[in-house]
Amino acid sequence: MRIAVLKERANGETRVSATPETVKKFIALGATVAVEAGAGGTASIADADYAAAGAEVVKDAAKGADIVLGVQGPDSKALKGANAGAWIVAGLDPFGQRARVDEYAKAGFEALAMEFMPRITRAQSMDILSSQSNLAGYKAVIEAANLYGRAFPMMMTAAGTVSAAKCFVMGVGVAGLQAIATARRLGAQVSATDVRSATKEQIQSLGAKPIFVESVAGIEGEGAGGYATEMSEEYQKAQAELVSGHIAKQDIVITTALIPGRPAPRLISDTQIASMKPGSVIFDLAVAQGGNVEGSKADEVVERHGVKIFGYSNTPAKLPADASALFARNLYNFLSAFWDKEAGRPVLDEEIGNAVRLTQGGKVVNERLLG
Ligand code: NAD
Repeated sequence: MRIAVLKERANGETRVSATPETVKKFIALGATVAVEAGAGGTASIADADYAAAGAEVVKDAAKGADIVLGVQGPDSKALKGANAGAWIVAGLDPFGQRARVDEYAKAGFEALAMEFMPRITRAQSMDILSSQSNLAGYKAVIEAANLYGRAFPMMMTAAGTVSAAKCFVMGVGVAGLQAIATARRLGAQVSATDVRSATKEQIQSLGAKPIFVESVAGIEGEGAGGYATEMSEEYQKAQAELVSGHIAKQDIVITTALIPGRPAPRLISDTQIASMKPGSVIFDLAVAQGGNVEGSKADEVVERHGVKIFGYSNTPAKLPADASALFARNLYNFLSAFWDKEAGRPVLDEEIGNAVRLTQGGKVVNERLLG
């Protein structure tokens, strides 16, 4: 069983899909590991560190590979020489990169999309969306604090008092919860909202104030797999009204709302931005999925009505060392959980296999792509 670790080729991608720690663990399972030279450079991991962990550091890592690991989906050039039927295990962006999925099928690869990992307890340690969103939620607050021309905590000084920043988090999934916790640690007064009423308690338990639409039913408990669905027009209208009143009093807004397979819901309009105080900051974590905020542009600080709006196309890539360490562990936890000692390779079960497998036997087989 030969595992390849590729150098990421996508613009702005700084992460790597294996670390010396996970390389060692794969070797302990009986695999050989080939790491493409320079793969860890942007995540502060030297080729020598991979070699010391037992990896072969080579130019053409995919050659002869049975499993190819990536952070993002590799193109056919990067996969040159991989064995017939090789597994490609990465964040494959199945909806956004559909043509590439078709190419994997045509080439006979078995593509496994890590973002399709089911949200079940035993798969938590394999979930790249959670591990990367967690870091993204933290980074969003740090970047917003950096752009904000004032302090976050209340400070009583001899020259007078600085008041605490008011921070509003919209969308309280994994990223939103971390954003609340980070803003609280920095001393902001934090409030938050979501369409899933189950998040109300979570917001309170972090010491923040829940802001919820009460007049129209939201999503009771958890939607399918814990995800949100698109809300009714009536709900969206009530939400916009509620947000308008609240947002005008905020200094920092962090938006994180996503709906799988759909463009991100629009949560903040230009009129609402205009109601905010000049100097306020909005960080749009969903900017790469279409954006929660009108006028937000990836990787560019946009100033509207004196409000700075910002968001990265790839937020976890701004914390390459930690993001790689967690991503690599997710991949190792996934493959090792299914490792069949006799076969000397992982053998997936039906529940997780069917959820993550996009292509097999020359065809696209995943229900979410076919349906
Ligand atoms: P996500 O990234 O898909 O979306 C972020 C948040 O935006 C969600 O909380 C969603 O409800 C919210 N949202 C969507 N539309 C909105 C709107 N119009 N207004 C306001 N908010 C809106 O979510 P996520 O971070 O992936 O987490 C979703 C849930 O799944 C959470 O409850 C999380 O704890 C759970 N989860 C479970 C597992 C597991 O059991 N293995 C793993 C990860 C996450």
